[in-house]
Amino acid sequence: MAGSEYTSREAEQKIRQGRRREQEDGVSRGECSPPPPEGAACPHCGAFVPAGALYCGECGGNLLHPAVCSACGAPTKPQGDICEVCGAWLSEGICKFCYTPLPAGAAFCPNCGNGRDGIVCPDCGTLSIFDFCPKCGRPLSNFARQALEAANNDPDIRLIADNSKRAAKIAAELAAIAEAEAEAEKKRAEEEAARIAAEKERAEEEKQRLNEAAENIRRIAAEKKRAREEAARIAAEKTRREEALRKQQEREAAEAALAALKAEALQRQQEDDPVTSALRAAINKVRNMTFANAQLARLFYMARRPLFSRRWRCNAYGNIHSSPCECAEPQHGGVWL
Ligand SMILES: [Zn+2]
Ligand SMILES: [Zn+2]
Ligand SMILES: [Zn+2]
Ligand SMILES: [Zn+2]
Ligand SMILES: [Zn+2]
Repeated sequence: MAGSEYTSREAEQKIRQGRRREQEDGVSRGECSPPPPEGAACPHCGAFVPAGALYCGECGGNLLHPAVCSACGAPTKPQGDICEVCGAWLSEGICKFCYTPLPAGAAFCPNCGNGRDGIVCPDCGTLSIFDFCPKCGRPLSNFARQALEAANNDPDIRLIADNSKRAAKIAAELAAIAEAEAEAEKKRAEEEAARIAAEKERAEEEKQRLNEAAENIRRIAAEKKRAREEAARIAAEKTRREEALRKQQEREAAEAALAALKAEALQRQQEDDPVTSALRAAINKVRNMTFANAQLARLFYMARRPLFSRRWRCNAYGNIHSSPCECAEPQHGGVWL
């Protein structure tokens, strides 16, 4: 299913303003002094980027962001706006709510009016850099209130609310498939890593064996030792083969279970009545949204948090977060679990 772009009137306005600002910047730079021919290396992928660029043409990474968080030293996500480890905001001098550059010393954003440091939640006292309080979920900004209103008027959400039991069943089914897919993918990656490690180990053993063989030509006495080691090597190789076979059988079982799950879902889908089909489409749409920036995504999903849900999986990395406020790149969509 194709992803759809979420744009409230507010969002479009924000993007337009951002673009206008970029164009103005570009024009004034062009008139005053031609851009210098030199560039720099992208802090995220090392690719050459021309001077004045905001994003890396190679990896799409934000060039204003350090490769590691200046607060905690953890590596940053190239397109993230916060550090996923400590939660620090990465764009100093940029409004945390609408991404507008802030004049030096301004306590409030001239574009959206929100505080430079964030908004203190009146309910729980948390200093939030998000439109919804990441601790208690209270809407804090006008953007959040508009997003809630939009969510209440969203026909997909109404349809899901009116058919909550059936929607919950379909959502659980889709989540189970995604979970099994992630599990199978993880297993494949682990096996690949184990295979590479074993290969390396074998190569090293081979080298060592050659060295030992050379020595054995001079010292026949060592021949016995070599034979013993050869026997041990053969035994180890046998163990390794058995282990690989066991892992392959495990993977095949997991893939068969996933295939069965998918077939079952397809079977159910074919038996669907119109309401169930519409529900399925609505749920899939919400899972596969993409957004112009991270805060728009957090607005959208925080406004649609199911009661008591405290787990959100991002599409960007498949990580489980307590909410999109903990994810550095929620703009690629995700799902409440
Ligand atoms: Zn890059
Ligand atoms: Zn950090
Ligand atoms: Zn702002
Ligand atoms: Zn709060
Ligand atoms: Zn994430």
